[in-house]
Amino acid sequence: MKKVAVVGAGLAGCECAWKLAESGVSVTLFEMKPVKYSQAHERDTLAELICSNSFRSADITAGVGLLNAEMHELGSLVMEAADATSVPAGKALAVDRELFSRHITDRIESHENIELKREEITSLDDERIQGFDAVCITAGPLASEPLAQSLTQTVGGEGLYFYDAIAPIVTRDSIDFSKAFWGSRWRPEDDDYLNCPMTEDEYKSFIKALMEGEKVQARDFEKEIHFEGCLPVEEMAERGEMTLAFGPLKPVGLTNPHSEEQPFAVVQLRAENRDKTAFNLVGFQTKLKYPEQKRIFRMIPGLENAEFLRLGSIHRNTYVNAPEVLSEELELKARPGVFLAGQITGVEGYLESAACGLWLGMLLRARLEGNDLSHPPAETALGALMGHLKTTPHKRFQPSNINFGLMPGLKKRVPKKFRKEEYAKRARDVFNNWLNS
Ligand SMILES: Cc1cc2nc3c(=O)[nH]c(=O)nc-3n(C[C@H](O)[C@H](O)[C@H](O)COP(=O)(O)OP(=O)(O)OC[C@H]3O[C@@H](n4cnc5c(N)ncnc54)[C@H](O)[C@@H]3O)c2cc1C
Repeated sequence: MKKVAVVGAGLAGCECAWKLAESGVSVTLFEMKPVKYSQAHERDTLAELICSNSFRSADITAGVGLLNAEMHELGSLVMEAADATSVPAGKALAVDRELFSRHITDRIESHENIELKREEITSLDDERIQGFDAVCITAGPLASEPLAQSLTQTVGGEGLYFYDAIAPIVTRDSIDFSKAFWGSRWRPEDDDYLNCPMTEDEYKSFIKALMEGEKVQARDFEKEIHFEGCLPVEEMAERGEMTLAFGPLKPVGLTNPHSEEQPFAVVQLRAENRDKTAFNLVGFQTKLKYPEQKRIFRMIPGLENAEFLRLGSIHRNTYVNAPEVLSEELELKARPGVFLAGQITGVEGYLESAACGLWLGMLLRARLEGNDLSHPPAETALGALMGHLKTTPHKRFQPSNINFGLMPGLKKRVPKKFRKEEYAKRARDVFNNWLNS
């Protein structure tokens, strides 16, 4: 019988352990609770939901709804538990968090192929995880300090990050091209950036709104983040009315082809994918509340009708620079035999973390049996999410939730109001073909 160690019994760890155990692999699952708790975990049960009790939309015309459907079809334990403990939440899938976590704990504890050990693993060299056919690290965004340090030593200082600063992403279709224009600084022929020009009045109203907007309160353990050189856009605005105009919004080198007038400030949008179907707002990492982000960022000329694929955030988050340090099979290049799954790989969100754990379980099972497993195509939600860990569009790799912007653009022209349905239909067809093959 093949033996695998899984470190961290959160959403990814439980999915991975379950998938492996169900296929006859002997799993030793290490969980540090209740011996030690992270700054956000509170319960001694497994797969704890540390903040919201929602897995977001269950509608397949949203990326996360598609992922939900695919996980159901792949035999996900998290989906089984969510269905069994759901609470009414409209089109969203929300759960009773206590029952959810209890359900998963019971399933794991009673599985004959899983041995659950309530112990902290402090290093990749820890002797308790030696001698296995594979080791999976699923210790999450708040992995314990000694283990995170050991990972840093393995992948190097540039290979592991301790926080994320995420800027919002908007769909290309929702940008008003009669106002926005293409061009990099000094290179008007470039189409890597889209520029949204502002007059002085527009800029000043925008700064005021940024400062007055409602913010998410940082938790105590998150307060030090802002000193690490990645300030929230609203905090920059608070340093002085012109700070942004001289910083990320400086208009220098950009000529607006729609107007004779030189812009007072320019918000730059950078392509998020090769097909240029999605763009992020450069420098707009933020702690504004989600509804406030939508209201305030729609004040930017050209973004009045912006459709947000992802909203901004700044979080304490331990994650690796996946495109650099992980192989296509989620194995540490610097440490063959050690695999990563969950939020620590650079996926973002409960469902995404669980999906990553599920996929690693499937991959490892095939590998331990000496088989190759074809990867889910990029048109599917799982394929798109895993694809994000392989592409490196920017200097600093940033975590992502699942959204249609991670998928290849549609090949045919489809009216805007049917586009989500078309993405969903294509994803379902491609996923079914992949599953059947
Ligand atoms: C403060 C915060 C709030 C979040 N809120 C949301 C939200 O509302 N919605 C959402 O979709 N996503 C949210 N996320 C993002 C993310 O989806 C969740 O953190 C998710 O739980 C990640 O799943 P995971 O399995 O990767 O890690 P986790 O679920 O955190 O599981 C990791 C497990 O590993 C254990 N562990 C850690 N180190 C060790 C060690 N050395 N040895 C043994 N065990 C160890 C931990 O105790 C934990 O049980 C939040 C993240 C943070 C940090």
